[in-house]
Amino acid sequence: IEKNRIMDEAGIRRALTRISHEIIERNKGVSDLAMVGIRRRGGPLAERIAQKIKEIEGVEIPVGVLDITLYRDDLTTLASQPMVHRTEVPFDVTGKVIVLTDDVLYTGRTVRAALDALIDLGRPKCIQLAVLIDRGHRELPIKADYVGKNVPTSRKEIITVRMKEIDGKDEVVIEEI
Ligand code: 5GP
Ligand code: MG
Repeated sequence: IEKNRIMDEAGIRRALTRISHEIIERNKGVSDLAMVGIRRRGGPLAERIAQKIKEIEGVEIPVGVLDITLYRDDLTTLASQPMVHRTEVPFDVTGKVIVLTDDVLYTGRTVRAALDALIDLGRPKCIQLAVLIDRGHRELPIKADYVGKNVPTSRKEIITVRMKEIDGKDEVVIEEI
């Protein structure tokens, strides 16, 4: 296995600081803003961006989490399908500007499932997407509004994202398998 570190702790911190400023600028402030992280590492990303926005604007941003996992529904289905397990969104999404976060954007199927789940909860004013890494290979017309780093990958490569809250340290590594 060949490994290549593409972001370190400072790199991740700077990317999230920039994204936080971009969110504020794009939305001309933070009114009605809310964050929703996708399952594991999108959760801490949503929390960190909310914390950064609080430091910049002095406003508390509500944060929710969607738990989405890939499953194979039966043997005739070759590709895995993302399924929403649990929604922990402790605020009314109606009228909110929701920034959805995930660590890595790949085919876009997980984000599509997340959009469905959010729309089932109410009627957001709009939904935007923030990802730490965009590795390409989209299979749906989905694009991130805020990107930490664009990393063109082959399908044989995988990106390992480590975050302090889960993994004890912050880094992004690209691995060839
Ligand atoms: P999708 O294909 O739906 O965009 O991605 C499926 C799920 O797997 C998403 O939660 C996405 O974050 C994750 N994922 C896809 N490719 C990678 C990768 O290379 N590294 C990591 N850490 N997660 C990935
Ligand atoms: Mg993910």
